[in-house]
Amino acid sequence: DPLIHGIQSKIRVVPNFPKPGIMFQDITTLLLDPKAFKDTIDLFVERYKGKNISVVAGIEARGFIFGPPIALEIGAKFVPLRKPKKLPGKVISEEYVLEYGKDCLEMHVGAVEPGERALVVDDLIATGGTLCAAMQLLERVGAEVVECACVIELPDLKVEDMEYVSHLGLE
Ligand code: IMP
Repeated sequence: DPLIHGIQSKIRVVPNFPKPGIMFQDITTLLLDPKAFKDTIDLFVERYKGKNISVVAGIEARGFIFGPPIALEIGAKFVPLRKPKKLPGKVISEEYVLEYGKDCLEMHVGAVEPGERALVVDDLIATGGTLCAAMQLLERVGAEVVECACVIELPDLKVEDMEYVSHLGLE
């Protein structure tokens, strides 16, 4: 698909960042190209428009880049899922395990109502741990997670096994 290829060609891969052995997928180069950036958003909008989604939940930090334009286009509200101690109001927290250590996501209480249909957005899925924590937060307040959307899938992961994740086939 030339559209997908165009998007993929704008994502820079930086070896050994932030640590030796890691091939960092850098989406800031995609953002420098307005057509490729818009194509990325449009593909998700096409998939999610008319699906009765009222919440787009974006994961800090790059889910804050891709989530809001999708939310505006499909007529949903945007809810940031943040790292600990960033949100000023009352929050619920979900801890999750990383390759080395732990992390945590928080969401404002009252931002999402029971019964709402939610889409979770992030830039990249590796183990899926971050997306799972995001889903937990939404489900804990009674929302239904329709799907998780991310731009990049790391090739060593069998995302096909995770039917609730949509991605652009970028590896
Ligand atoms: P997971 O929880 O193992 O699926 O890791 C996904 C999270 O790690 C996402 O929030 C990504 O933003 C971040 N991440 C992991 N590797 C990369 C990378 O190469 N580029 C950008 N973000 C990454």
